[in-house]
Amino acid sequence: AKDAGKNQVTVYAPELAAARDRRIRLIADLRRALANEEFTVHYQPVVELDTGRVTAVEALVRWTPPGQPPIPPMDFIPAAEESGLIGQLGTWVLRRSLRDVGDWYERYGISVTVNVSGRQLREPGIADLILAELAANRLPGSALVVEITETVLVAETGPEEAAARAILERLREHGVRIAVDDFGTGYSSLAYLRTLPVDILKIDRAFVQESGGEADPVAFLRAMVQMARSLHLSTVAEAVETPAQATRLRQLHCPLAQGYHFSRPVPADELDALLSTGEGR
Ligand code: C2E
Ligand code: CA
Ligand code: CA
Ligand code: CA
Repeated sequence: AKDAGKNQVTVYAPELAAARDRRIRLIADLRRALANEEFTVHYQPVVELDTGRVTAVEALVRWTPPGQPPIPPMDFIPAAEESGLIGQLGTWVLRRSLRDVGDWYERYGISVTVNVSGRQLREPGIADLILAELAANRLPGSALVVEITETVLVAETGPEEAAARAILERLREHGVRIAVDDFGTGYSSLAYLRTLPVDILKIDRAFVQESGGEADPVAFLRAMVQMARSLHLSTVAEAVETPAQATRLRQLHCPLAQGYHFSRPVPADELDALLSTGEGR
């Protein structure tokens, strides 16, 4: 038994060390990538279901190290958060997005939706930074939507919660809207909706793409859309992939949607082309 215990240690320790080394290398690579501007932002249209009009675009970061295929955000955002680099990366994404949206906002009234992680929301001066970037680009607050996840809101308690709330309220006073991402996947969704400064719910893909296992997949969607409406919140359905999903959402009076059915996230120049083709529609 003693030998087995010893074996376990010698088997697992190198794996743990290897995982830790990989993480350390990833963080060093991220630092270099920030310095070298290896990031880009792709934009995915948010569409009004009744008219097909694009009302907003979600900014989604991409990392392409030289000579390598792009690394998906899920493979580096957690390390960026853990290392604190998310502040710098998030600021870069915000700047890029606000610079890109200027023209789309002016010509088509399109706003940009930027993902802000919990750690980023706790960076000192985050509200000032966001407002200063809007001003630098001569944009009103209504050109920006700040997207936060449910877990960010729920995890905060006491002074932390009050601080997060004050930041969101300050942004809202300037016309910035707040969206809750992945709505329906956290646990005290209803409790915080009662009190938190929020404008938009983004219904998680789990409720949009039925897996077939649910008793009544439509019931959840309908309930969420109706609840949002009675709270005077807007709803965006995420990851709409099929015409059937889009039709059903429209029948349920969900106002907005995004997903591959409408468009994948695309580089800024492709979005330009896409928007000018639809001009005057
Ligand atoms: P998210 O905020 O939930 O973003 C939506 C994700 O769903 C994106 O993945 C998007 O490409 C993907 N998607 C869009 N339409 C469809 C569809 O019809 N079907 C399916 N299956 N997927 C669809 P992506 O770009 O890989 O981003 C993954 C996550 O990384 C995001 O999830 C977000 O949490 C995070 N992320 C991306 N950019 C940023 C950023 O600038 N800052 C922060 N903090 N997080 C970011
Ligand atoms: Ca999002
Ligand atoms: Ca989401
Ligand atoms: Ca997500």
